[in-house]
Amino acid sequence: MGKILGIIGGGQLGMMLTEAAKNMPLDISKVIVLDPTKNCPAAKVGAEQIVADFKDESSIRELADRSDIITYEIESGDSIVLKKLESKCQINPSPETLSIIQDKLSQKKFLKENNIPVGKFSEITLRSELEEKIEEFGLPILLKTRRDAYDGRGNFKITSVEQISDALNLFEGRSLMVEEFVDFKMEVSVIAVRNTVGEIKTYPVVENIHEDNILKMTIAPARINTEISKNAEEIAHKTMEVLHGAGVFGIEMFVTQDDQILINEIAPRVHNSGHHTLQSSKTSQFEQHLRAILGLNLGSTELLHPAIMYNILGPKNFKGVYKIPTIDFDNAFLKMYGKLESKPKRKIGHVNLIDQDEIGIEKLLVNMGKLQENIIIKSDSTE
Ligand code: AMP
Repeated sequence: MGKILGIIGGGQLGMMLTEAAKNMPLDISKVIVLDPTKNCPAAKVGAEQIVADFKDESSIRELADRSDIITYEIESGDSIVLKKLESKCQINPSPETLSIIQDKLSQKKFLKENNIPVGKFSEITLRSELEEKIEEFGLPILLKTRRDAYDGRGNFKITSVEQISDALNLFEGRSLMVEEFVDFKMEVSVIAVRNTVGEIKTYPVVENIHEDNILKMTIAPARINTEISKNAEEIAHKTMEVLHGAGVFGIEMFVTQDDQILINEIAPRVHNSGHHTLQSSKTSQFEQHLRAILGLNLGSTELLHPAIMYNILGPKNFKGVYKIPTIDFDNAFLKMYGKLESKPKRKIGHVNLIDQDEIGIEKLLVNMGKLQENIIIKSDSTE
């Protein structure tokens, strides 16, 4: 009998997990998601839905009652409530791991204690501590809220001491930390996976290009030499050894000017920079996550073809119902997330362009440029 899978969050990641689960009917009989948006993307592809906030205790309890195994597609589930439910229901990654990762300060401390390379950082509770750290790390410096921050929200880059008050006022009442500003030459990530019996695998390192702090494009594999990519994969492997719990993790890293790898952040879930695996790799990150939490043997992480993933984001100057784009381009795969409305910077779909014809990454980038012109989000004039 297949298991009932509960997912905290039913956005696009929950949607693609649900689709992967449908291809494993003997292992998973049903998916239930907990998400505050009625008819969320995962519900649109067949998941049952509990409509409630991610942190609503009674709804998390209901999800645990109705599921054999719980996982997440977002990191903002209530780890304290989840910890209490561990005796009732299998939860992966473990609520303990989730709670370490949810707090950016405890995450960085954990990595440092385990000798995994990270940039300089420090907790900030007083203005004087921030001033001291500016002296120590130099400017610019990055003030970050420790919790519930993603896509750069919750980050303030302080470039002069005159900005200290503005930065502290903006985050008043939030717990804070500060990080040295890493002068990186590239942002990369490794999708890593560990199953419930401790088997660990990593996907090849990918290169991430951000715009306004949001991932715009992923290039697989990253355009770095084998020594750097080997180092990044080893660091990802070591990180998986020290983290408890099972599942896919997105490990974001900086490549510094002198080719060192520093971890920026870990996501305890499938990751945007792993979407290319849907068509480029032997096993998609979504199937891989399910295999890991179910205790199955992990699938191969081999990259069959180089690929570029381009995120379709809501344009800055438009909010509303949009015309669904279509594409007719060789080796391009469009995935829309079924979101009704476009909002500025909202992730509403992605395109994977796969190098099946072995033209090389640079030509593939040129083709992605052409393709982008066909997928500009516009108002649906029939509205
Ligand atoms: P975060 O949400 O903290 O991952 O930050 C979003 C983006 O801000 C990252 O993808 C980086 O481009 C940038 N960033 C975060 N931390 C640092 C840092 N310590 N130094 C330089 N850039 C950073």
